[in-house]
Amino acid sequence: MNKQLNDLFSLKMLTKRNIFMSFIIAATLSSCNKNNEEMTTEAQAAANKIENLKKGQLGGQDITYERKDGMNFFEGDIILSDKQLTDDGSANRGGASFSRWPGGKIYYTVASNMGSINANKITTAVNEYNTKTNTQWIPRTNQTNYVEFIFGSSSGSDGWAHIGYQGGKQSISLDQYISVGSVIHEMGHTVGLYHEHSRKDRDQYLSIQWGNIQDGQAYNFNIYSSGTDIGPFNINSVMMYWPNSYSKNGLPTIKRANNTTFTYNRTGFTTGDINTINTMYP
Ligand SMILES: [Zn+2]
Repeated sequence: MNKQLNDLFSLKMLTKRNIFMSFIIAATLSSCNKNNEEMTTEAQAAANKIENLKKGQLGGQDITYERKDGMNFFEGDIILSDKQLTDDGSANRGGASFSRWPGGKIYYTVASNMGSINANKITTAVNEYNTKTNTQWIPRTNQTNYVEFIFGSSSGSDGWAHIGYQGGKQSISLDQYISVGSVIHEMGHTVGLYHEHSRKDRDQYLSIQWGNIQDGQAYNFNIYSSGTDIGPFNINSVMMYWPNSYSKNGLPTIKRANNTTFTYNRTGFTTGDINTINTMYP
């Protein structure tokens, strides 16, 4: 998970575009240029981002998510389907839930433009799941319900995934420089795992540094209390955010509860991660 690089990039692009647009407006509509200065600020870019934020219901809990590219992003890299989530939550309170893959069997395909480097990482990650957990990732033949690994872009090391079993075709998106550990992380979302820092008991173990979080991104650090916490809190989990996630100033956004820093793990599964998955898929 490396959202903030992309976010910073898009923020910059947005600002550039706004400056350009303001120039056009100033040149052609000179009588309407009084607010140009306000319009070209980075604050507007931040506000534009915040406009994408939406309120919805997940598992009966009010949540905030970002609507982007026709998808619903939760906690940065988790995609919620429209079925899991509705803008008008009242009619669907408690109705939104994710399911587990029947029999722990997850059928998958790899997009033809994936490239051999990422394809090898997928193979390594699949082997980790197939040897260490009760889920079995099986190349799809003609199954209707499956996940496709798609190639996100050739810049950055970003990824995202639909959470849990959706029915039909769902996706895991991988970018050029993603690590095997991050592939395992995204596959964790496919299996049904949320992020470790959103557990109900996280404040016993973590201190969220709210003042260091980028404008409009604080919602990514909310507790998801409708989820089911399995096993003890595990700061080394491959599903843990990293310490500088969404930092606006290079300082940590997450520390241990005793205010010390931690090292995040994107090497692979911890025993806790394996135990959690095997509790979900006995
Ligand atoms: Zn994630």
